[in-house]
Amino acid sequence: MVEVLQKGNPILEKIAKEIPLDAITGPEIKNTISQMKEILRNTDDALALAAPQIGESIRMFIISKKIFGECNDDKEDLIFINPKIIKTSKNKNWAEEGCLSVRGVYGEVERFEKATIKAYDEEGKQFTFGGSGLLAQAFQHETDHLDGILFTEKTRNLREDK
Ligand SMILES: [Zn+2]
Repeated sequence: MVEVLQKGNPILEKIAKEIPLDAITGPEIKNTISQMKEILRNTDDALALAAPQIGESIRMFIISKKIFGECNDDKEDLIFINPKIIKTSKNKNWAEEGCLSVRGVYGEVERFEKATIKAYDEEGKQFTFGGSGLLAQAFQHETDHLDGILFTEKTRNLREDK
C-alpha cells in the first residue's frame, strides 16, 4: 500500500492541477484511483482521501462508501475528478474533524451544512452531487486538500489523541 503523506510535506501545501479530460480514463488516473481505494478500504477510520495525500498533485478525491454507515453494501466509493463546489447552504456548523495526513490530531472546523459539487466521474462523465452533514463536511475538507489547505489551519479546540 502506498503511504499517506504527513503534514509538513510540501505536496500537501500545493494547489493541485486540473486533470485534462482526455487523461481521466487513462492508465495513470486508474492506477491512482486504485491506490486511493486500497487505502480507504484498509484504514478503519478513513472516510475520504484526496490525491495529493498520496503525492499526486491533481484535483481528485474519493469519498469512501463507509461514510454512508452500516448499510453500504449496495454503495460504491464516490470518485470526484476536477470537483467544484457550486452551491452551499447559508448555514454553517462547527464539527470535529481529523485527517489521515495529520494523524492523532482532531479539532473543530466550521463548514457549510450542505454543499453541492460538480465533478467528473472515472468515465469522464460530468455529474452533480449534493450532500449534508458529514458528507458536506468531507466535500469541503477534501476540496481544501486540493487547494493546499489542511484542516489544522482552520480549527479551534485542537486536541491530540494518539
Ligand atoms: Zn484530510
